[in-house]
Amino acid sequence: ALEIGIVGLPNVGKSTMFNALTKNQVLAANYPFATIEPNVGVVPLPDPRLDRLAQIFGSEKILPATVSFVDIAGIVRGASEGEGLGNQFLANIREAEAICQVIRGFADSDVVHVDGKVSPADDIETINTELILADLQTIEKALPRLEKEVKQKRTEPEVLTAVTQAQQILEAGTTLYQHAQTSDFDLEPLHELQLMTVKPFLYVFNVDEDVLADEARKDELRALVAPVEAIFLDAKFESELAELEEDEAREMLESIGQEESGLDQLARVGFDTLGLQTYLTAGPKESRAWTIPKGATAPEAAGVIHTDFQKGFIKAEVVSFEALDTAGSMAAARAAGKVRMEGKDYVMQDGDVVEFRFNV
Ligand code: GDP
Repeated sequence: ALEIGIVGLPNVGKSTMFNALTKNQVLAANYPFATIEPNVGVVPLPDPRLDRLAQIFGSEKILPATVSFVDIAGIVRGASEGEGLGNQFLANIREAEAICQVIRGFADSDVVHVDGKVSPADDIETINTELILADLQTIEKALPRLEKEVKQKRTEPEVLTAVTQAQQILEAGTTLYQHAQTSDFDLEPLHELQLMTVKPFLYVFNVDEDVLADEARKDELRALVAPVEAIFLDAKFESELAELEEDEAREMLESIGQEESGLDQLARVGFDTLGLQTYLTAGPKESRAWTIPKGATAPEAAGVIHTDFQKGFIKAEVVSFEALDTAGSMAAARAAGKVRMEGKDYVMQDGDVVEFRFNV
């Protein structure tokens, strides 16, 4: 599943943030079954383009794309050695598509920190170390098998080379995702080992309100995880915000000088980290965003709506959101020559507004 696993040390605010994720008003209205699984939160991806489409087409409903987050039980030091929740924890992470670490940045002396002090750098290192140790174990176990398979010509030598390199990177204390962000190291040959630090990562700093407005402090924290993305939010504030109606929520955000809620940011960055994009459909019934991987072709995109659309795909009528927005209507966009017919090799672009033609 395309789920982002939420991890972090105990008492950093994971549950608070997760509750906010599952309380979201917009979501409750459109996706009544969104939180059937207690540990999965489905979050709408904010997309102002849908409001404009709904205006152009007179749509009754707006259905944004969603991002799913799964709450993974707390990590403890020694997880990679199978202590306590360790094994289950690692199994859950293996199933997630990306990992989101929540890091405590708020002070509050009433809330105990497991290590006795609030230190974002140490929290990040603790989790990274556990994941790195787990990957090193996986590699050590796999190496003899891979060496044998390469000799028997059953596995490409490139795989063995990549795995040996990965081992060195991990031994130097860097996650493979982080390393790949700043080099041309190819993660693809490592695929079959299902390593954990290969997964896309994002970081959420759960901070006090004053930090949200403190760019210098935020830059210090960003530097701890760069080039990986950092999001700043106040989990307590977010959980209050999530209970409000849209207008009230916007006012409350403005009152602390923020344009966008932390959860909206989280959804956006999470979506991007997963390598996803959206295309749009619109009509009187609904304006809707559909999720596809970057690089998906028109038939693949059609298949997200229905497998029959992919099988019977003939062509796609496509106009970019920008062109349609400028033209103001489908008819005007057509008259301006902005509506194109695309075939089965067309690679979808983010924000394409599409109508598929297909055989049934
Ligand atoms: P978890 O163990 O990571 O799931 O952490 P919880 O969400 O249960 O939070 C632990 C404690 O910290 C609770 O008492 C929360 O109310 C408190 N807490 C969570 N987020 C914040 C925050 O942003 N600010 C403050 N002051 N307290 C918070």
